[in-house]
Amino acid sequence: MEQTTKLPESVKYDLTFAREIYSLENGSYIKQCMQCGMCAISCATRDIMDYSPRRLFNLIKLGKKDEVLKSNTFWYCTSCCTCKARCPRGIPLVDVMHDLKRYAIKNGYVDYPQAAFCKAFWAEVAGRGKVFEGGVTARFYLIRGLDEVLKAMEMKDIGINMLKRGRLPMFPPKKIKGMGNLKKIIRKAQEIQRKEEAR
Ligand code: SF4
Ligand code: SF4
Repeated sequence: MEQTTKLPESVKYDLTFAREIYSLENGSYIKQCMQCGMCAISCATRDIMDYSPRRLFNLIKLGKKDEVLKSNTFWYCTSCCTCKARCPRGIPLVDVMHDLKRYAIKNGYVDYPQAAFCKAFWAEVAGRGKVFEGGVTARFYLIRGLDEVLKAMEMKDIGINMLKRGRLPMFPPKKIKGMGNLKKIIRKAQEIQRKEEAR
């Protein structure tokens, strides 16, 4: 009887997602990753990440959109810069992680509380020119809803102690002088970013 060798099915990669990520401000650096693993062994939060930065970059190259955007990796990046300092290819991993956070928020991948925190922090800075902790907290809980408020009640003693020691201001500070100029700068930066993304 004639023996037939079954060839493995070919794997098709959808590169649309990878190309979108490469088009982000620092996204094209990912193409230079040689998978050495230096970032993975250097990262202090690696143990709580779904994927190490090395693995995340590989998943991006493979077009695994859901795995990448539903992972906690970039949300757990503390921007400590250790990986950036050690990467033999000089990849600015911190900046790539920031790009991924922004991309995830823009595309509705906002399940992690860190996404709400980023939005709250940004709204506070853009609206006041400086950060008022109470404002960030209020905005964060408005986005996250009642469940998160109930969880926060477990930490109420910490909050009360911070208030007592003056580490948490009760009242919002005045907006910075030149708020109009800040808004112009932000608008201009957003305009430049939109143009770069459209290229
Ligand atoms: S250290 Fe740099 S080259 Fe090595 S795996 Fe990490 S990103 Fe890639
Ligand atoms: S910058 Fe982020 S990814 Fe890099 S070592 Fe620090 S926490 Fe890990």
